[in-house]
Amino acid sequence: MTGHIFGRSTRISPPVAVAGEGCYLIDAGGKRYLDGSGGAAVSCLGHSNQRLRQALHAQLDRLAYAHTGFFTSEPAETLADRLIAKAPEGLERVYLVSGGSEAVEAAIKLARQYFVEIGQSQRHRVIARRQSYHGNTLGALAAGGNEWRRVQFGPLLVETSHIAPCYEYRDRQEGESLEAYGRRVADELETELQRLGPDSVMAFICEPVVGATSGAVPAVPGYLRRIREICDRHGVLLIFDEVMCGMGRTGHLFACDEDRVAPDMLTIAKGLGAGYQPIGALLVSGAIYDAIAQGSGFFQHGHTYMGHPMAAAAANAVLSEIEERDLLAAVRRQGELLDRSLRERLGQHPHVGDIRGRGLFRGVELVEDRGTKRPFDPALRLHARIKALAFDAGLICYPMGGTIDGRLGDHVLLAPPFIISDAEIAELVDKLAGAIDGAIAGAQAA
Ligand code: PLP
Repeated sequence: MTGHIFGRSTRISPPVAVAGEGCYLIDAGGKRYLDGSGGAAVSCLGHSNQRLRQALHAQLDRLAYAHTGFFTSEPAETLADRLIAKAPEGLERVYLVSGGSEAVEAAIKLARQYFVEIGQSQRHRVIARRQSYHGNTLGALAAGGNEWRRVQFGPLLVETSHIAPCYEYRDRQEGESLEAYGRRVADELETELQRLGPDSVMAFICEPVVGATSGAVPAVPGYLRRIREICDRHGVLLIFDEVMCGMGRTGHLFACDEDRVAPDMLTIAKGLGAGYQPIGALLVSGAIYDAIAQGSGFFQHGHTYMGHPMAAAAANAVLSEIEERDLLAAVRRQGELLDRSLRERLGQHPHVGDIRGRGLFRGVELVEDRGTKRPFDPALRLHARIKALAFDAGLICYPMGGTIDGRLGDHVLLAPPFIISDAEIAELVDKLAGAIDGAIAGAQAA
């Protein structure tokens, strides 16, 4: 099939996906692919969910679209209520958008408007972390710390500071306890605030469990609490970006639930619509909402498709599936099985440096030398080789290169559907191990 779709890469011509069945995608030639990463941590319910099908049909029969400048809708209101009922403490309002970048963009703009409205208009800076990704629109891209994505757009990006990520495998020093390590890297926020002048900073943004850029790296215990304390001390808003790690992926509906730390704003997307509809959401504290309600009364922002009834109907059905099928428990149980299976198969592998993650959000980091943790030469593009070999073998996984700061090894992110069976986990690990071995052999021969 030829066409004129301009996709991610001009160098590949991907197969045409024609169907989905449980944890599998099927292409036009009938080949089946086990979706070991849910695309990019999206398809949390798999590909042929009946409740989603019915919910979307039913919503389409009632109402497809009504502009939020004139109306609200029953699915959007229901979704907001349901999210708030489960949200971390203090989050009381929901702003519905169409994806992750939109949610982050809205968070940054809302932070700015909040400070203008409360008379602190000198606050305009954002602090984020190196090795982070928060989306591809200009504001979200500016927040992200992934140089490779940012470099050519530099002149268009607002100034953002980046501190160290919380990345224990690489950065914890010999003899340093987890707690001491977490404190040390969190305290970089304090140092950066002092450097900038704390009164000029409006927000700090981070992922509680880092997804795409690092491969399922959770914050160490105590880190997020320390970050919360520093933000509170200086009146800086804390934004958790749970676009990838939220909506049950880690075994909690919100990843930060495990750390028992609540932000002032929280973004979700991906698993919220599970791929059945594009949808994202920004959850906002009552204090931020009240300040604007009592001030201008209007968030100076908006998109044509925000609060879309079809997207909200899909998200409501996703929440019902998670609740009624007890999928958070399934994520924890199958996540442990996946972790165990990865460790059994790859734990002693000479080129596997780290296996990490939470729930059904796991990462495998590849290194040339386990002892020194030296990554493979980025020019070998090990991640691309793994992706291609896995795909040939019928496995979709999400490998990324290891060039960031020159410190991160190539890694593979796994984020399979919450319904993955024991046999499918075995297939995933088997095909992944084969792809890793094949890719390393190919790289060494190159
Ligand atoms: N934030 C995080 C943590 C993400 O992983 C992503 C996408 O991968 C985004 C934001 C951007 O989301 P979207 O691609 O839906 O715009």
